[in-house]
Amino acid sequence: MQHQPGPMQAVASVPPPADVRTSAGGFPAGTGAMAWFDQIRALLLSSGLPPEPAVYDVLWRYVRDDDHELSLAIDRALAHGALTLAALLALRETHLGQMSEAQVNQLIAEAHDQAEALGRRIESGQTDLADYGRAIADGGERLAGPMDAASLGALLEQLSQATSLVQAANARLIEELDQAASETRALADKLIQAERAAVTDALTGVLNRRGIMAAIEKAQGEAVASGVPLALAVVDIDHFKRFNDRFGHAMGDDVLRFVAGHMAERLEADGGAVGRLGGEEFVGLLPGVSVQAAAGRIDRIRADLAAQVLRSAVDGSSMGRISFSAGVAEHRHPQSADQLIERADSALYTAKRLGRDRVVPDRG
Ligand code: GH3
Ligand code: MG
Ligand code: MG
Repeated sequence: MQHQPGPMQAVASVPPPADVRTSAGGFPAGTGAMAWFDQIRALLLSSGLPPEPAVYDVLWRYVRDDDHELSLAIDRALAHGALTLAALLALRETHLGQMSEAQVNQLIAEAHDQAEALGRRIESGQTDLADYGRAIADGGERLAGPMDAASLGALLEQLSQATSLVQAANARLIEELDQAASETRALADKLIQAERAAVTDALTGVLNRRGIMAAIEKAQGEAVASGVPLALAVVDIDHFKRFNDRFGHAMGDDVLRFVAGHMAERLEADGGAVGRLGGEEFVGLLPGVSVQAAAGRIDRIRADLAAQVLRSAVDGSSMGRISFSAGVAEHRHPQSADQLIERADSALYTAKRLGRDRVVPDRG
C-alpha cells in the first residue's frame, strides 16, 4: 500500500510487527494496555488504516498475539504492503466473530486499572501534576459508562497522550527537582556564608559590632527570661598606638587577631561571646555570670595575655608584652544593650585612669 509522507513515514520505520508484539518494539515492561494502544496507534498511522472499531478490534488482537494464525496473516499482509481495510476486514471475518461484550468489558477494566494506577503513581509521587491525574481519572469515569470500540479507541488515545505527558512531565519534574535541590543547597550555603560574613569581623574572625550587638540583645532576653545574671566586659588594648608606631600596622593587625583569639578561646567555651566593637576595642559577653565573677574571669584573661612575650612570626624577635584594660557591668532590666556597654565603658575609663592593665567592675 501507499505510505503517506511526513510523520507517517517515520512511524512506518518502527520494528516489524512480529517484533513489536514480542516486546522488542521498545515499550517498557508493565505498561500494559497503554503500550498495546501505542503499538496499535503506530500501526494505524503506518498503514493508513482508518481508526474504526473493527480495525481496532483486529489490531488489538494482533498486538497481543491473541490469535497466532491471525497475527501471521497480518504479518504477511504488512510485509507485502497489502494490509488494506478490505483485507483486514476479510481476515476478521475469517478469524474472528465480533468482539464479545466480555472482551470489551475486560479491555475497559484494564484501561480503567491503568488509569487508576497512573492516578495513584502521580499521587504517590507527590508531584503537582494534579491536572494530568484528573484527566486520567476523567477517562476512567468515562470508561465506566457504555462505550463502543471506536470511542474506546479515541479515549485510549487521549489516555495515551496524557500518559506520555505525565511521563515527560515527571521526568522533567524529577530533573527540575534535582536541579532545584542542588540550587537550593548552593543558595542555602551562600546565604549561611553571607549571614556569617554580615556578623563577622573580617580582620579577627570574632563577631563584628552588628553581630555582638545582636548577641547582647539575645542574651539580655534570655537572662531576663531565666532570671540569671548577664555580665559584659569592654576591653581596650593599652597603648596600642605605640605598638603600631613601633612595629607597624600589619604587626598591629596580628596583635588584634591574637587578642581576639585569646579572648574567644577563654569565653566561648562557657557559652560566652566575643565581638570587636571597632579599633582595638572588644566586648566579652558572659551569660549567667555576675559582675564580680565576670571581673575575676576577665582579669585572668588579662593576666594570661600580659604574661606572654609576643614574638614576630617572621624572625622570632621580641615585641614585648601587651596588656588591656577592661570595664565590666551587669545587665539591669530593662536597660538596652547600648546602656550596658556604656556602663562597662565608663568602668573601662576608670581602669585606664587608674593606670591601665587592670579590670574595673561597674559599681553604679
Ligand atoms: P589607650 O591605652 O589609652 O587605649 O591608648 P591607645 O594607643 O591604645 O589608644 P588610642 O585611642 O590613642 O589609639 C588606638 C590605636 O589603635 C590607633 C589606631 O592606629 C589603632 N588601630 C585602630 N584600629 C586598628 C586596626 O584595625 N589595625 C591596627 N593595626 N591598628 C588599629
Ligand atoms: Mg580605644
Ligand atoms: Mg587602647
